[in-house]
Amino acid sequence: MSYYPPAVGRLVEAFQRLPGIGPKTAQRLTFHLLKEPAERVRDLADALVELKARVLHCACCFNVTDVDPCRICADPARDPGLLCVVEEPNDLLAMERTGEYRGRYHVLLGALSPLEGIGPDELKVRELLARLDTDQVRELILATNPNVEGDATAIYLAKLVRPLGLRVTRIARGLPVGGDLEYADEVTLARSLEGRREM
Ligand code: ZN
Repeated sequence: MSYYPPAVGRLVEAFQRLPGIGPKTAQRLTFHLLKEPAERVRDLADALVELKARVLHCACCFNVTDVDPCRICADPARDPGLLCVVEEPNDLLAMERTGEYRGRYHVLLGALSPLEGIGPDELKVRELLARLDTDQVRELILATNPNVEGDATAIYLAKLVRPLGLRVTRIARGLPVGGDLEYADEVTLARSLEGRREM
């Protein structure tokens, strides 16, 4: 990397820290930006700065938002008795796209993964329990991804909240196994929500 001007090396390294981007893609993106007009590149830089300055996590559900609490938490038309647990804000968006769900959400900001050192303390689990204590939740819908980590997280949460005596359900199979909620089409996801089962 030392034969690059430092500014090039810096951006290549920054891209490489993003998920799914290896050294070759990082270099390609960097050299692509070098060819772009200056104002396009400045637009991108502004968007990056604005992202961190204007977007935050809702203190209640941990969805991404520009107002706190977020619009979903603040919406009186949403059923406070239904709480859907998802891994990431993208999964929440996928659920919203189905247009079928009228409850609220809790975003864990990840899934349990002992191999990567992600335990319950790294997720918004304590915050979930606090909500179950104070909100009038009747049913907890576990909509973590249908893969090893997502299933382990759902099983862990189901056990954890069992003493509270509320209804705990898991979205149905039928989603592509090993896939992410965010990649499921609306009809499949709506059916999976409809077919949820007691845990
Ligand atoms: Zn919220």
